[in-house]
Amino acid sequence: MSGFNLNNLNNLERDKDLSGLTSLGVGGRAEYYVEPESIDDFKAAFKLGLENKLKIYILGGGSNVIFPDDYIKALVISTKKFNKILFNDNNVRVQAGCSLARLAAEAAKNNLSGLEFAVGIPGTVGGAIFGNAGAGGHGIAELISELIIIDDKCELKKLSAEDFSYGYRNFEINNIDKNKILILECVLKLHEAERELIDAEVKRYLSKRINQPMGRSAGCTFKNTEIKKNNNNENNEINLSAGKLLDECGCKGLECGDAIVSENHANFILNRGRARSEDIINLIKICQERVFNRTGVMLEPEIKFMAL
Ligand SMILES: Cc1cc2nc3c(=O)[nH]c(=O)nc-3n(C[C@H](O)[C@H](O)[C@H](O)COP(=O)(O)OP(=O)(O)OC[C@H]3O[C@@H](n4cnc5c(N)ncnc54)[C@H](O)[C@@H]3O)c2cc1C
Repeated sequence: MSGFNLNNLNNLERDKDLSGLTSLGVGGRAEYYVEPESIDDFKAAFKLGLENKLKIYILGGGSNVIFPDDYIKALVISTKKFNKILFNDNNVRVQAGCSLARLAAEAAKNNLSGLEFAVGIPGTVGGAIFGNAGAGGHGIAELISELIIIDDKCELKKLSAEDFSYGYRNFEINNIDKNKILILECVLKLHEAERELIDAEVKRYLSKRINQPMGRSAGCTFKNTEIKKNNNNENNEINLSAGKLLDECGCKGLECGDAIVSENHANFILNRGRARSEDIINLIKICQERVFNRTGVMLEPEIKFMAL
């Protein structure tokens, strides 16, 4: 591509196979792929992508994304080489590409509590913030006191807790489209606790994952959902587990190519080895339609569709 000055970008690769970079193991190739190691590298990559009018996709651990099977004319920016952790009293400053599980383990070693829920969640801190990853009613966003981003004009911005809002598997930055920015680093506020108590919590969270399906997946396919019921003039919100709905609608074991809905957990789609993105996407649609036709509930995917 003319104007794409390779000399300016460290760790740039062309024609990159993305399938090995996602936990589902599907996806085609991207025209450009880069692994920046410093803020300047990120800014340079972002700037070149914008100047060359390339679609830009940010990739963390790839544990919640699906890319198309087809070649994408895009720049994929990986955060994996930007992964430092710095503890300061009860606060931790962490770069976006740090593994969430590693951060949780380091916090525990420092007798800091707050991240126990995160021990079994794959992926990076940046990816976790993007979707407010969590477990057991907790999510990473509740811990953030500072967030540094590169915005859609390629400028560095420091945000505080008043600048964003969050909920279950949801994170929004006020007046900024989070799909157009890059999360660089954050400060999380933790609190001191006895190591034994932290370890007991970690064990409790891990024990809940014993029955989690093994194999290539992106975790839960759909978000749990809420419906409003009007009983005796009282509005009640009812939480519905996506897994339970899918199970009740007979989705376990449904197949598409080499993709299958897990027999153990209806909210997990597994790649048995040779599935293509198309298979996974078709299976998602089939499950969505089946649940909608039988219950009237339209499940919202938790998996992020990139370039689709
Ligand atoms: C076995 C398994 C179990 C799981 N269990 C859970 C669970 O208990 N709870 C839960 O919440 N999730 C769970 N997940 C889903 C997944 O691990 C989380 O959503 C995780 O936080 C995604 O992080 P990632 O780095 O892999 O993000 P990716 O998959 O790489 O990206 C996800 C999205 O975030 C964006 N993104 C990533 N990094 C950045 C950044 N630095 N700046 C801007 N945007 C960015 C991407 O563009 C994409 O839209 C599970 C997944 C698997 C495979």
